[in-house]
Parts: sequence; structure tokens; C-alpha cells
Amino acid sequence: MSIFSAPAFDSHELVTFGRDEATGLRAIIAVHSTTLGPAVGGCRMFPYVSEDDALHDVLRLSRGMTYKSALAGLPFGGGKSVIIGDSRKDKTPELIRAMGDFVHSQGGRYVAAEDSGTGVADIRLMAERTPHVSGMDDNEFGGDPSPSTAWGVFISIRAAVRHRLGQSDTRGVRVALQGLGHVGYYLAKFLVADGAEVVAADVNQANIDRAVADHGIHVVDPGSILSEEADVFAPCAMGAVLNVQSIEQLRAGIVAGAANNQLATEQDGARLMDRGILYCPDFLINAGGIIDVHHQRVGSTEAKKREHVNHIEHTLSQVLTRADESHRETNLIAETLAEDILHSARSKPLAA
Ligand code: NAD
Repeated sequence: MSIFSAPAFDSHELVTFGRDEATGLRAIIAVHSTTLGPAVGGCRMFPYVSEDDALHDVLRLSRGMTYKSALAGLPFGGGKSVIIGDSRKDKTPELIRAMGDFVHSQGGRYVAAEDSGTGVADIRLMAERTPHVSGMDDNEFGGDPSPSTAWGVFISIRAAVRHRLGQSDTRGVRVALQGLGHVGYYLAKFLVADGAEVVAADVNQANIDRAVADHGIHVVDPGSILSEEADVFAPCAMGAVLNVQSIEQLRAGIVAGAANNQLATEQDGARLMDRGILYCPDFLINAGGIIDVHHQRVGSTEAKKREHVNHIEHTLSQVLTRADESHRETNLIAETLAEDILHSARSKPLAA
């Protein structure tokens, strides 16, 4: 395993490997940047096939967090952690507490939040060992930031529909939704309430049943959701879903979803553009969760939090307009915008 020459290595400030024999913990923390503040990012638990896969994931995810927080106007840097293991079989309270010790060893440079395979209960266990955690407060949703993520994605879909189809709401718009988990469930709810037609797929029957019972959506086979005839494809399951093969299958003119790292490679942004598909960059439109975490930390009102999440729509509109004007990929425009924010923070003189 190499680090500095790993394809996803991008001048990360720190990459730390954690091992605890007693609990079986094997984890990696990647801090991409602390330019704007402590590197806040989720702790993912996943049964990676290899340590290289885990490293690749944590490097890409942490870089995405830097861009996400910068574009969202948050005082956070970019970081992420991964635990190698199956959250349904390997997760024990002691393993999660050991992860808390590992997070603590970073001295506050990295702050852990929930992610796929971890939840608010795990963050509370880590908090027994470290104050450097976020997203565990009790609120209307029990500290879960997913409804805010879903809201940010929903208003982004609305903005993309306005940009591409010229209508102000999503009434009659057909959305193919991949994944009915924490985010997908709420996204379906917001879309249906706005008049959209939602067709969804998931590999988890309980999640399908819950969404069908609560929102009355249509369900299709997971294998056919990509090629579903729709106006919008909303990936809310896993990363790298947009690749050389899948982009050919897409029949929707807009892609806007919550999943992190949707583009398998940088070139996939160009592939989407070549096919005339409007891609809403994931790290821009799925920032609602991290914005929620920030407002939990500072103890804001729900109204203030919502106002901040709503700003995503403005930033996205700016990105879509610039992309049209310059005939460049939306993901590159959004990355440039984030780099500009980081650059001006770096060049600011230190306060006396
Ligand atoms: P989740 O694990 O709760 O839900 C994912 C859902 O996708 C599950 O229901 C799962 O069964 C389903 N799924 C898995 N493979 C599938 C497949 N092949 N086809 C269809 N469905 C499949 O996760 P989540 O919290 O809802 O997050 C969804 C995505 O959004 C993840 O990529 C996550 O990293 C990203 N994200 C989440 C948040 C948040 O606030 N939760 C914030 C930013 C980004």
C-alpha cells in the first residue's frame, strides 16, 4: 500500500491508521485540510474488500468534505474516517469506544460524525472517550442530520428543474430515486409533497415497505433504476454510481442525489456533459447534513439552520450558470469555486 502516490492522495495533511487488538478495530482517519477549521466528517463502517479500497475511500471522501464545507460557508476543514468491518456483524460497543480513543488521539484536528454504517448511538459511545464528535444532540429528528441533507437535495432538484425545464416546482416531474435509507426516505417525502412522481429502488425490503407505506411511491427493481425513464436520477445509495457503463444507460436529463463521490472518475463529469446530462455536484448539494451538524454544535434555531441549508440552492444556481457560460463541467466549476474560497482563506493575514 502506498500513500503519497495513491491515486486519491491530494496533499492530505494527515493520514493515520488505527488498530486495537482487543476489539478488532482497524480504522483510518484522513484529514485533507484544516484551512477553514477542524476537519469535521463522518465515520463510515464498511466491509472493504481490501485495505487499499478503504484507503482510497477515506482519501476521496475527506477531500470531498473540504470542498463541501468550503462551499457551504462552514468553519470546517475536510476529514473522514473509515472502520473496516461489517456494521451488522462486527460492530460492538467496545469497538466503537476504541474508535472514540482513536479520534481523540488526533487532538481535535478531526471531529467525527455519523455516516453509512454508524449512527447517532455510535457517536454517543465515542463521546464517552472524546469530546471531538458531532451530530448527537436531541432535536426533532434525534440528532440525525439526514432530513437536512434530503432537504438540500430536494431544493437542488427544484433548482435544476427550473434551470433545465423552466418550471418553478417539481409538479409532474418524474424522479428515479436510488436508495430509500436515511436520506432517500425524506427526499421521497419532500418530492411527493411537492407533486413529483417518485419511482424508487432499494435492496432493503424494510426500507422499501416504510417508504411505500408513508409516501405512496412506485417501486422498481434495483437493476433497472438507472435506465428508468425519468426527468431526474437521484442517487442516494452508494458512491461511484456514475461511471463509463452506467452513464450510457441513464435516461434522465438531470442527476441530483445525496450519495458521496458519485463520479467514479473525474472524466465521468465530462461524459455526463457530453451526453447533455445536467449533473448537480454531490459535494455541493448534499451539504445539508454537515450544515445541520454545525448548527447542532453552536445551538442554533431550526429556522437559522433551514435558512443556511436553503443557501445551497443559490450556490448551485451560480454553478449551473457559470457552467453554461464557460461550457465546462459543473463538478469542475464547483471545485474551482471551493478552491477560490480556500485560497482566499490561506492568503488572509493572521489576526494580530
Ligand atoms: P443509508 O445507508 O441509510 O441508505 C442507503 C440506502 O441505499 C439503504 O436503504 C440501502 O439498502 C440502499 N442501497 C444500497 N445499495 C443499493 C443498490 N444497489 N440499489 C438500491 N439501493 C441500494 O445511507 P444514507 O444516510 O441515506 O445516505 C445515502 C448516501 O448519501 C450515502 O452515499 C451517504 O454517504 C450520502 N450522504 C448522506 C448524508 C446523511 O446526512 N445521511 C449526508 C451526505 C451524504
